[in-house]
Amino acid sequence: MRIGCVKEIKKQEYRVGMTPDNAGSYVNAGHEVYVESGLGVGSGFPDSEYEEAGARIMGTAKEVWDISEMMVKVKEPLPEEYPLFHEGLILYTYLHLAADKPLTEALLESGVKGVAYETLMERDKSLPLLAPMSQIAGRLSVQEGAKYLEKMYGGEGVLLAGVPGTPKADIVIIGGGSVGTNACKIAAGMGANVTIMDVNTQRLQYLDDIFGARIQTLVSNDRNIEKALRNADLVIGCVLIPGKAAPKVIKKKYLQQMKKGAVIVDVAVDQGGCCETTKMTYHNDPIYTVDSVVHYCVGNMPGAVPRTSTIALTNATLRYGLEIAKNGLEEACRENEVIYSAVNTYQGKVTYQNVALSLGMEY
Ligand code: NAD
Repeated sequence: MRIGCVKEIKKQEYRVGMTPDNAGSYVNAGHEVYVESGLGVGSGFPDSEYEEAGARIMGTAKEVWDISEMMVKVKEPLPEEYPLFHEGLILYTYLHLAADKPLTEALLESGVKGVAYETLMERDKSLPLLAPMSQIAGRLSVQEGAKYLEKMYGGEGVLLAGVPGTPKADIVIIGGGSVGTNACKIAAGMGANVTIMDVNTQRLQYLDDIFGARIQTLVSNDRNIEKALRNADLVIGCVLIPGKAAPKVIKKKYLQQMKKGAVIVDVAVDQGGCCETTKMTYHNDPIYTVDSVVHYCVGNMPGAVPRTSTIALTNATLRYGLEIAKNGLEEACRENEVIYSAVNTYQGKVTYQNVALSLGMEY
């Protein structure tokens, strides 16, 4: 199969759909790989590495789109890219169609087979192409929180781990799923005092089993959150109710009782945020302050570390990409129902129920 990869054109998006190692894997499996010149520069991969792996470098994105039978990307295509779609193309990327009618219509009109990372579900119900980004956001949340606790950013001027003879920072993590567990790993590893809360007691049991006495687990409810926040230096919000807006578990009134210069990292901002005072921010201006509490609410945190994010994402996507490329999408779906779960558009029809329902389209 002829497989392509182009640079992302979304602002400040430096991740790419294919590393040189991935390109080599597709080439070794007998495929032709075409990449846009300069593809991996933002993630630290020069053209020469793609060439060494056996990929062919093309001068423009259009040339790559035109020649490809399968396009591997990261983000959903933007309107400038819609005219490059062509009948039968397999588009393998994050699509997020439920919130994007124009893109859905463009895929249907052009007959593109849209294979969405975010809906690919393994038999155990896990979402293996979303998990790496949650892992990164979780680990990064502590790193970013540590930075904005520094005085020059408006933080209270506290070092997370402290030093002998000084108090350690108190970190409160609300939501003990993928993001929360990864935040916990880094926070506990740095030696801070960590409290993690969830509404799911089985999840708390799991966290207690893996972290033991190094952390405090608590059931998430208004009272526990309000009390924990009074002493918190860093709060990481990472609750999720799938398919719904995040519950506002951090009320504005709690902020007045918090320490001046404490930091809230609201990772759940992409679902509307779990703090009443959250508004989306971007990497070029990531923080703002309300009631002396610093808020960090960046919606695409993994974009801050594109090299790690590209490698983590493509480690996960390659396996299914190779299955699709081997005998085509139809055969891959027949052989593996997991791949079928990612097909969102096919031959002019929406093929994923929730997308169709959200957009009021035929399924
Ligand atoms: P997850 O499903 O693995 O975990 C969510 C957890 O929240 C679950 O354990 C659930 O029981 C818990 N929860 C639900 N309601 C709660 C409540 N009221 N109080 C406490 N816990 C509650 O989800 P995840 O992968 O960890 O993702 C968490 C959020 O982070 C999602 O909104 C996701 O979209 C977002 N996210 C954001 C970025 C970013 O760059 N900002 C990156 C990755 C993920």
